[in-house]
Amino acid sequence: MAKQERCPLADCKQPLERAEQDDSYFIQCPRCGKFVISQTFGVSVHREFLDHMDLMSGLREFIRAENEQGNSPLLITQRWQIDAEKYKPSVWGQKPAEAKGE
Ligand SMILES: [Zn+2]
Repeated sequence: MAKQERCPLADCKQPLERAEQDDSYFIQCPRCGKFVISQTFGVSVHREFLDHMDLMSGLREFIRAENEQGNSPLLITQRWQIDAEKYKPSVWGQKPAEAKGE
C-alpha cells in the first residue's frame, strides 16, 4: 500500500512514504506535517507547487495549523492556493489561524 515518494512540497523533497487511501494519498512528512492530496492533484502537484513557490510558506502554515487541530488537510487543485494564500505571512503580520478558537 505505501509507496516510497518524495515530499511534494517544492522546497522540501524529504523522502517519505505515501499511503494510498481511496482516491487520495496520505502524506506524512517529518518537516511539513500530515496532509492528504487527491490522486488527481497528485498527478500535477510537483509542477503546481513549482509554479507557486511564493505560496509554499503559506501552505506550510496552513498544514501546521490544521495538524495542530488534529486534522490532516486535503489539498486539491485550485483550493490549496486559496488556503495557502490565507496563511501567507501578510504585510501586517496577522495570522488567521489564531482566529479559530478551540
Ligand atoms: Zn515535506
